[in-house]
Amino acid sequence: TEPGYIRNFCIIAHIDHGKSTLADRMLQLTGVVDPRQMRAQYLDRMDIERERGITIKSQAVRMPWTVKEGEQAGYQAVLNMIDTPGHVDFTYEVSRSLAACEGAILLVDAAQGIEAQTLANLYLALENNLKIIPVLNKIDLPAAQPEKYAEELAHLIGCEPEDCLRVSGKTGMGVEHLLDEVVRQMTPPVGDAAAPARAMIFDSVYDVYRGVITYIRVIDGHITARDRIKMMSTGAVHELLEIGVSSPEPQKHPGLGVGEVGYLITGVKDVRQSRVGDTVTLNSRPATEALGGYKDPKPMVFSGLYPLDGSDYPELREALDKLKLNDASLVYEPETSAALGFGFRCGFLGLLHLEIIQERLEREFGLDLIATAPNVVYKVTTDDGQEIVVTNPSEYPTGKVASVSEPVARVTVLAPNDYVGAIMELCQSRRGVLQGMDYLSADRVELRYLLPLGEIIFDFFDQLKSRTKGYASLDYEPSGEQVADLVKVDILLQGEPVDAFSAIVHKDKAYTYGVSMTSKLQKLIPRQQFEVPIQAAIGSRVIARENIRAIRKDVLAKCYGGDITRKRKLLEKQKEGKKRMKMVGRVEVPQEAFIAALSTS
Ligand code: GDP
Ligand code: MG
Repeated sequence: TEPGYIRNFCIIAHIDHGKSTLADRMLQLTGVVDPRQMRAQYLDRMDIERERGITIKSQAVRMPWTVKEGEQAGYQAVLNMIDTPGHVDFTYEVSRSLAACEGAILLVDAAQGIEAQTLANLYLALENNLKIIPVLNKIDLPAAQPEKYAEELAHLIGCEPEDCLRVSGKTGMGVEHLLDEVVRQMTPPVGDAAAPARAMIFDSVYDVYRGVITYIRVIDGHITARDRIKMMSTGAVHELLEIGVSSPEPQKHPGLGVGEVGYLITGVKDVRQSRVGDTVTLNSRPATEALGGYKDPKPMVFSGLYPLDGSDYPELREALDKLKLNDASLVYEPETSAALGFGFRCGFLGLLHLEIIQERLEREFGLDLIATAPNVVYKVTTDDGQEIVVTNPSEYPTGKVASVSEPVARVTVLAPNDYVGAIMELCQSRRGVLQGMDYLSADRVELRYLLPLGEIIFDFFDQLKSRTKGYASLDYEPSGEQVADLVKVDILLQGEPVDAFSAIVHKDKAYTYGVSMTSKLQKLIPRQQFEVPIQAAIGSRVIARENIRAIRKDVLAKCYGGDITRKRKLLEKQKEGKKRMKMVGRVEVPQEAFIAALSTS
C-alpha cells in the first residue's frame, strides 16, 4: 500500500471510557470481523482481560475504509488502529503504541468528563507529536452531558467545542463519521521508500505454537517475506518464516513498506531476542542508524512469591520463565525465607501488574501461591558509606544506617471540588506535598502532589475511592527519590524474627504497623503448648507486644475407653493438619495465618 493511503492511529482514554467497545464498532463497520464472530471487547484476548473487562496488551489491527461522505467520499484508505490499555501500570505499553502512530482519538465518556488518565494519555500523545481528534463517547446514555464536557475538552486541548465529535461505541452512532474524520484530519505516514529498511518493534509476544511474534511499524524502506532481517541492537540475523498483518486475525502478506504496521515471525523462542524498541533492518542492506528506542520499563514494586506447597517450586520457576517470554517487564530472582521456604522475589510495574501476574500463575499454571506484602525499592547508605539497594526488607542492613531514600511519584488526582478537602487530608496523611491545583471547569479540580511511592501502593487508591464516593481518578508517575525517616520493623515470634512480616515504614507509622501486626497474629496463631510472645521491634527496641497463652491440648482425653480406631483417626487428622504448619523456631504457624496476615496488611 502507498503510504499516502495509510492512517495509523490509536485510541486513548481513561479506563472504562469505551476504547475497546469503540474498537469493536470499527472492526464491524470496516467489515474485518464477520458479524457472526463479533463479541464484545473483541480484541481483549486473554481470559483475564475478558473477566476483568480491562485491556492489558495493546493490539494492532489493519482495516480498509472507504470514505463515506464529504469531499473525499470514495477514497480508499487503510487504517491501522492500535487499542491501548488504560491503567497506570501499563503506561509504558501505551507510549510504545503512540510512537507507531500519527494520530490519536482522545475518547472521553460523556457522562463522566475528563479523568486523570485522560490527561496522562493526552500528554503522552502530545509528546509524540500526534494529531488529536477529541471525541465524546457514550452519548446514548441518559446521563450524558456532551455540551458540558465538550467545553471542558475544548478548553483542555485548545480547540472549539464543535470540534469535539460525538459517538456511541455501543450503538455505533457517529462512528462512520469518526472514521471519515480520521482519514481527513490525520496525516499519512512519511518515510523514505528507497532507503535501507528500518522498522520499529512496538510489541513482542510469545505464542506457544508460533514462537515469538514481533509487531513492527515500518519507517523507511521495505521488508519482504524473502528477506533476512537483522536486529540493530545485537546484530543478530534471522530468517523470516512469515510476514503479515493482523486484520484482526493474522494474514500473510508479501511485504511491508513505509508506514505499514504488521508482524514478523522468525522462529525465535524468547521475546528478549526481539526487544521492544529495537530497530529491525535487512541483513542484505542494513541501515546505519537505529531509530530512537523506548525507555525500558523499570519495576517499581517488589513482592516475594512462594508456592503454598514447597514441592511446587520447580513449577513456579518454569511458569515465571514462560510468563517472562511474554512480558519483558517482569523480573524475578530466587530467594529463601525462613518462614515461607523457597520462592522468588519478583519486580512489577505496579500493583495491578502484580495481581495479574499472580492470577496468571495460579490460573494458567495451576499454582497456589503466597505473596508477601509489596514494597518499593529503598537505597540505604550505611555509616561506612556503602550504598545498598533494598528490594526486600530482609536485606536491610543490621548495622548503623546513615540515610535511607525512597522513590517518589508525581501524582495527579481529578475530582469534583466537593472532595478537595477529603483528598488533601488523605494525601497529607501519606506524607504528600501539594504541588499545584487547577480548576478544569467550575466544579472539577486537578490536584498535583508529590507522594512517596510506598504510600501509594499501600491501599491509597482504595482510600481515595472510598473518600470521594468513587468520583476521584488517579494517575502517577515515578519522579526521583527523597531521603526519608524510614525504619525497618521486625515481627518476632518467641524472639525469632519472621522475615516475611518485616517491613520498611516511616518512623511515624512504625508503631501503628507493629501494633496492627502483633494483634492480627495474636488472633491468627493458635495456642501452643507453651506461651508465645509476639513482638514488633526496631532493631533491638521492642515497640509492641502481645502474648498467646499456653494450653495443654489433650485431644486423646476425649477418647475415653479403648476405641483404638477412633484414636488413630484423630491422630491422623492431627498429622494432616501439621503438614500445613510452618515452624518458626518452636512455634507452629498454620499456613492460613501467613496468608491472612499478609493479605490484609
Ligand atoms: P475501555 O476500558 O476504555 O476499553 O472501555 P470498554 O470498551 O471496556 O467499556 C467500558 C464499559 O462501558 C463497558 O461496560 C461498555 O459496555 C460500556 N460502554 C462502552 N461504550 C459505550 C457507549 O457508547 N454507550 C454505553 N451506554 N456504554 C458503553
Ligand atoms: Mg479496553
